[in-house]
Amino acid sequence: MEYRNSVKIVCVGRNYLAHARELGNEMPERPLIFLKPPSAVIGSGETILLPTESNRVEHEAEIAVIIGRRCSRVRAEDALAYVGQYAPLNDVTARDLQRMDGQWTRAKGFDTFCPIGPAAPADGMDPSALEVIGRVNGEVRQRGRASQMAFPIPVLIEYISGIMTLEPGDVIATGTPAGVGPLEPGDTVEVEIPGIGILSNPVRAR
Ligand code: MG
Repeated sequence: MEYRNSVKIVCVGRNYLAHARELGNEMPERPLIFLKPPSAVIGSGETILLPTESNRVEHEAEIAVIIGRRCSRVRAEDALAYVGQYAPLNDVTARDLQRMDGQWTRAKGFDTFCPIGPAAPADGMDPSALEVIGRVNGEVRQRGRASQMAFPIPVLIEYISGIMTLEPGDVIATGTPAGVGPLEPGDTVEVEIPGIGILSNPVRAR
C-alpha cells in the first residue's frame, strides 16, 4: 500500500458545519490543517489501541485523498489531476487530550490512530459525489457527503500545496462530518466510502 510509506498525513479540521457545531467551534475562514505522523498508520483489520493517557478516544470517519503525482502550488481547477486514490480514513482522536493540550499533536498522534484503506484509484472520478459513513458495532454514527464540505477537495489541494509540496503517497484527510463519539474496548469501528471500500478496525485497551 503506497500510503503506508507516506512522508506526511495532512488533516483538515472543521470542514463540515454540523461537526464544528457539535464540538462548539466556529467555522474557520480558511482550511484549518494539522499533521498526523505516519507512524500512526494501520490498515483495515488491524487493532486501534486506546492509550492509558486518555479517557475519551473518539472516531472521526473521513474521506482520504492519496496524492498520485508530486505537486506544488496547483490551482483548484487543476488539482484533481494529482490525485492517485481515494480511501476511507479514521482520524482517531483523544478528545480529552486535544482540549487539555491546546494543540493536537499528542491527541491525534498515538500509534494506531490513523487507520486507512482500502484505497481505490481516482481514475478521474468527481470526488464531490463521494459519501462517508462511520459505524460502531454496526450502528451508523456518522454520515457525510463531500458536497457538504466547507472547503471542497480541489480547494484543499490548492491550499495545502501552496504551503508544502505534496509527494506521491501523501495523504489528505478531508475532515469529519457530525456524529463523532467514543470508542470502547471490544468495539469494532468502520469507515465506509460506498464505491471505494470499508475500513474496519477492532478496538482494545493498550
Ligand atoms: Mg478529523
